[in-house]
Amino acid sequence: MTGGDPLRLGILGGTFDPPHYGHLALAETARVQLGLARVLFVPAGDPPHKPGYPLSPAVHRAAMVKAAIADHPAFVLSRVDLDRPGPHYTVDMLALLGKMFPEAEFYFLMGSDSLAEFPTWRDPVGIIRQAVLAVMERPGGNADLDRLEREVPGIRERVVWLDAPRLDLSATDLRRRVREGLPVRYLVPPAVEAYIREHRLYLRGNGDA
Ligand code: ATP
Repeated sequence: MTGGDPLRLGILGGTFDPPHYGHLALAETARVQLGLARVLFVPAGDPPHKPGYPLSPAVHRAAMVKAAIADHPAFVLSRVDLDRPGPHYTVDMLALLGKMFPEAEFYFLMGSDSLAEFPTWRDPVGIIRQAVLAVMERPGGNADLDRLEREVPGIRERVVWLDAPRLDLSATDLRRRVREGLPVRYLVPPAVEAYIREHRLYLRGNGDA
């Protein structure tokens, strides 16, 4: 980056229940391919209490993200969606980050499953006005850009495809593996696996099938 270039920041929002190598590959590919100064990992806050809601408490999800990114100097945990009351819409999160980093150019990182659902998000045009979407293909998540362009005009020129291998990893499947006593080693960072074991996460069904 030369002196006059804007600060390029990546943002990876998610539930991270738990964080896994799919998230980390997405963040690292984007960082290198797009020359990002930093990638902010933004765990979603706790939703308003609903009986039987399957998400693990934010304190665990944030701690696991911290553990997952501890060895990477450009990866940072952002509490922007943890420390404010919900609902946590991406369009609002970007506006808040825009105030915190007024000189930054934002890249919102996502898998192609999220891109396929993007038109259903709150104010998608407002999101692509504030950030470029950096997308990693994901098995089962096919996004048709012609359809997306009809539903969210202008999106085509705000999407960048990342050159990463497709990794068939999901937090849902990892929770099942823990519950069923299958290994998660080599699927999540060792520190995340240690945290899951220490806090006995995912041992009982939490709403997943
Ligand atoms: P769950 O299975 O609980 O829905 P998840 O594995 O999809 O979780 P999230 O925290 O919901 O993880 O994902 C945050 C973001 O990371 C989303 O944009 C998602 O598309 C992306 N992502 C997660 N896993 C992958 C993967 N294996 N490849 C590419 N993108 C991924």
